Amino acid sequence: MRLFGTNGIRGVIGEDFNPDFLVKVGMAIGTYLEEGSRVVLGSDTRVSGDMVKSAVIAGLLSTGVDVEDIGIAPTPAIQLYTKNHGDFGIAITASHNPPRFNGVKAIAQDGTELPREEEERIEDIFFHGEFRIVPWERVGRVIPGGDANAEYVDKILSLVDVEAIRNAGLKVALDCANGASCFTSPYLLEALGVKVVTLNCQPDGRFPGHESEPKPENLRDLMDFVREGDFDLGVAHDGDADRVIFVDERGNFITGDKSLALIAKHVLGEGDILVTPVSSSRAVEDIARERGAKVVYTKVGAPIVARKMIELNARFGGEENGGMIFPEMQYCRDGAMGLAKMLEIIAKSGKKISELVAELPRYYQGKISVRCDNDKKEKVLERLREVYSGENIITLDGVKILGDDWWVLIRPSGTEPIYRVYAEAKSEEKLEELLKKYGREVEEIIASL
Ligand code: MG
Repeated sequence: MRLFGTNGIRGVIGEDFNPDFLVKVGMAIGTYLEEGSRVVLGSDTRVSGDMVKSAVIAGLLSTGVDVEDIGIAPTPAIQLYTKNHGDFGIAITASHNPPRFNGVKAIAQDGTELPREEEERIEDIFFHGEFRIVPWERVGRVIPGGDANAEYVDKILSLVDVEAIRNAGLKVALDCANGASCFTSPYLLEALGVKVVTLNCQPDGRFPGHESEPKPENLRDLMDFVREGDFDLGVAHDGDADRVIFVDERGNFITGDKSLALIAKHVLGEGDILVTPVSSSRAVEDIARERGAKVVYTKVGAPIVARKMIELNARFGGEENGGMIFPEMQYCRDGAMGLAKMLEIIAKSGKKISELVAELPRYYQGKISVRCDNDKKEKVLERLREVYSGENIITLDGVKILGDDWWVLIRPSGTEPIYRVYAEAKSEEKLEELLKKYGREVEEIIASL
């Protein structure tokens, strides 16, 4: 049985996320830690934040650990504060999920998300109910939290060329999705001398502005706003602000792998390593090669990318969804650091963001889904590996088939009874052809088993 998914423990309030469950989660984490440990705990803006946090804290305290409650903060700010002040961290957040969800994300002392083996130790304690309940005189305390958000903004300011950004006189439209970045990104932009106009920058856990996933259909207001106004850049975060998505000065959505490639172009040097999941655009690899740097691919998942970066002492890393990892900041996805870096790039180049994007290699991407029962998925994967073994393939996560200027990635969904077929090519025609060909082949393989 599992408690942690790919991004912490997630659930729906009033269904699986109840106080009794959450107290036990707190007790399991507390038991896993040494008595007397200090847990840094923060949350996003969700309505249920206080309930979830109170229950988790009660469980933690009962095992004799102390909790420093830093209030509402972006996940990367909680991670940084954990690294600087705690023995362990907890982020109460469901990231980009709808408002009825919440989550508990565990953070290791070094600020990175807890590795899977450690999560399993917590799950063992949880499912066996073997909690360390301490006597009354050893029950933990809640320590008033320090200013994690200010510490976070200050650290970002120390890592970018503030002068260059100030001198560029930039104007930005910022959409915080009513989430945790309301407490950081507006202040970061102000400190950078950027003229900022805000949308959905009042914290509100009902997410009245739009759903908190920064995808085009949720960012229509921002795109219209930028298109009609005189802005250099539009910026959007997801609910817990570990990601950042950009809109160009004309109001066009910039996909996450384009911003990843753009930043890679400016931070990578000769001999550097960039780490990214197998699902990332070829544009990222083209850019890295152009800079004399090397790309190392991983399975899909930000914590996996972060751990690989530590192992290889990589210069930069990230995903196609706006999650970017800057080692000089910390080994986790960091939305506001990505924002500051993008401003620095625009400021120093003297170009429009649309021009910088136009200079990147151009690829077309698409995906389709094929139905596949969950219990068949493993078998299908084995068969796919056999069928495509004669091609140039990567089998880190699903099966990725590499062509000269295209690729196809076939992988099972972790949550739904489907296989996804992703493809990327230099032209729309080639993309359609790839999706059609491989979609049909995957269908045939599934039907044959
Ligand atoms: Mg997030």
